[in-house]
Amino acid sequence: MKKHNFSAGPSILPQEVLLKASTAIVDYNDSGLSLLEISHRSKDFVDIMEKARALVLELLGLEGKGYKALFLQGGASSQFLMIAMNLLEKRAGYLNTGSWSTKAIKEAEKLDDIYEVASSANANFNYIPKGYDIPEDYDYFHCTSNNTIFGTQLKEFPNSPVPMVCDMSSDIFSRVIDYSQFDLIYAGAQKNMGPAGTTLVVIKEDILGKVSRNIPSIMDYKKHIGAGSMFNTPPVFAVYTSMLTLEWLKEQGGIAAIEKENEKKARLMYSEIDLNPLFKGFASKEDRSDMNATFTLQNENLKETFEAMLKEAGISAVNGHRSVGGYRASMYNALPLDSVKALVEVMSELETKA
Ligand SMILES: *Cc1c(COP(=O)(O)O)cnc(C)c1O
Repeated sequence: MKKHNFSAGPSILPQEVLLKASTAIVDYNDSGLSLLEISHRSKDFVDIMEKARALVLELLGLEGKGYKALFLQGGASSQFLMIAMNLLEKRAGYLNTGSWSTKAIKEAEKLDDIYEVASSANANFNYIPKGYDIPEDYDYFHCTSNNTIFGTQLKEFPNSPVPMVCDMSSDIFSRVIDYSQFDLIYAGAQKNMGPAGTTLVVIKEDILGKVSRNIPSIMDYKKHIGAGSMFNTPPVFAVYTSMLTLEWLKEQGGIAAIEKENEKKARLMYSEIDLNPLFKGFASKEDRSDMNATFTLQNENLKETFEAMLKEAGISAVNGHRSVGGYRASMYNALPLDSVKALVEVMSELETKA
């Protein structure tokens, strides 16, 4: 039986996507060949790549606005450096809201000067700093829309006077925002878009070509754009499965429809965390994430009982990250509301037992 999968990443994908993807591995489109056995230059695969790239722009509302979508490799982590390679000339501003933005800063610093416009490190990243300034002479401003580990999310984005770059690995395609306020968006596929192995980069072409550095080809966005996201052999399975997930999302009614579902799940989850005296939320209320809910047990003695009950109910992967402890329920697009109901039921049952 399918488990209630709250994994933070790699994470749950729609069951119908998994079925289609598994069929394609054996025999793609009744071609007598596996998707994994055909050339990435074949019409079959070029069509998949082009469809995936077009769906990204369509779903984000970025068609005809000067953006290009790329499916790259190396994870969101490789983007930490690649962004600086392509955009950093003198100085950039970073908002530090968690482990991932800390890592992004560390990598960019290897190339040039980075300034932290604000940080919530002093409170173990349990909130999002607000009211900071972004100097006009910076090359770009970088932020992380959703902090997967700490369970915080930017509900509003600053009015940046310089190009805005955003790591959306764990909440892209989850909510309606004006995606055109960003000049570069990136996301590892394995949280809300597909399997591990590809990284989505959506980039406004006119911000490129402004640094004096000689960029190595594999790290040069212009080279990837020029090659139609096929500068070298792309991760064919990850791109195909991401395309299937994007098609699924479109069939659900797109981002606006999935946002409603995500809000229902988050509301149910947080009302249990807030009302059940056995649990305590980690993130500051106004900043908490609709994707990753972080919480702890007030009484550690109940840990064993709670975890045995979770197991019994078929609930998987709600363990928290080591830097926060406790529990984390990741409620990405493909997680059904029923899974959250199952988790909340166990939490309230624990209350009656305690
Ligand atoms: C998971 C995650 C990353 C790292 O992604 P990789 O693909 O493993 O490099 C970066 N940023 C955020 C916000 C994440 O959630």
